[in-house]
Amino acid sequence: MLGAGMHHRTQDFRNVFLAVLADLKQVMGTANDVLVLVASGTGAMEASVTNCFSAGDRVIVCTAGKFGERWVEMTRAYGLDVIVLEAPYGKAVSAEALEKALTPDVKGVFVQASETSTGAVHDVRAMGEAVQKTGAIFVVDAITGLGTMPLYIDSWGLDIVIGGSQKAFMVPPGLAFLSISPKAWAHMERAKLPRYYFDLKREKKYAASGESAWTASTALMLALNEALQYIKSIGMATLIDNAEQLARATREACHALGLELFAAENPSASVTAVKAPDGLDSGVVVKEFRQRFGAIIANGQGEMKGRIFRIAHLGYFDVADLFAVIAELELILYANGIPVTLGAGVAAVQRVYAEIAITDKTTDKITGKELANV
Ligand SMILES: *Cc1c(COP(=O)(O)O)cnc(C)c1O
Repeated sequence: MLGAGMHHRTQDFRNVFLAVLADLKQVMGTANDVLVLVASGTGAMEASVTNCFSAGDRVIVCTAGKFGERWVEMTRAYGLDVIVLEAPYGKAVSAEALEKALTPDVKGVFVQASETSTGAVHDVRAMGEAVQKTGAIFVVDAITGLGTMPLYIDSWGLDIVIGGSQKAFMVPPGLAFLSISPKAWAHMERAKLPRYYFDLKREKKYAASGESAWTASTALMLALNEALQYIKSIGMATLIDNAEQLARATREACHALGLELFAAENPSASVTAVKAPDGLDSGVVVKEFRQRFGAIIANGQGEMKGRIFRIAHLGYFDVADLFAVIAELELILYANGIPVTLGAGVAAVQRVYAEIAITDKTTDKITGKELANV
């Protein structure tokens, strides 16, 4: 019985816990250990800092947005010696810049695979190949990267890869998980920063028998278990394809509407950041989505607030959602006096969708549904 009354120290729950860990390993495609923590994604980010480093350790943070700045603040809060490699919002830190900065005293490198605040991705493959040649560990916040972009954790040298329940994993917020390479475990043997709630060695010991050190979030684990069954049923590659195709359709719709993308050179498949047209505050767009249509899109964060709006298209988001979002966007722009041809964005989405449906007749790449009976 999988009710709310399931106790976390029972065999029923241990079975769920062990299945979730095994399935996470499978969908993340890694041989590394995977652990689950009761926290939002930031908790796993903090765990990677406190468990792998000592005060004064030299680390590099590659930052190009608000989540990169979170790494900067967090590593400084714990007294690390932080070198900041920065790219402007909407761009990415280059692997060449990282390679140049990687002196032998650097113990760790932090980055976002997908920088959700700007809708840009980092080339974590090239970065990982550079870090792999050194003694440093590569810590990747992939909270919106997992399930939206291919991440070959083991061969690319991604020592710690962090995910969260509430993005492409389609579960309410409250669980974070991370994969940990042998190189990262070795760093932990020397790391002296204080830690208690997030003690990864302790969690690993408990996880071996299907338990967590502290009380597990039983409801969220049951939900994650369900989400993982769904992801396995369609395949992680299809989940990623879905995000990529929807992202492409979103970008083409924006072009058709004369809108400019904020991260045009290296756009993320998880979220599309769009510049608000001149004279229109992006907050108005966000507010009208909610008030007129009950739909939620996001404003820019920090200094990007008012300048960009962000449309998510990951997890179970499908083409039907996108038709609605783009049609609504057109109406909002039109109502605010922005010159748009009604239907032009929707037509762009239809064109992308039609093209994909024609090239693959068995599976609908966008919805993951079988096309046989259509
Ligand atoms: C959502 C997100 C996080 C997690 O933030 P929480 O508020 O702790 O859930 C971290 N990094 C990125 C890139 C994200 O998109």
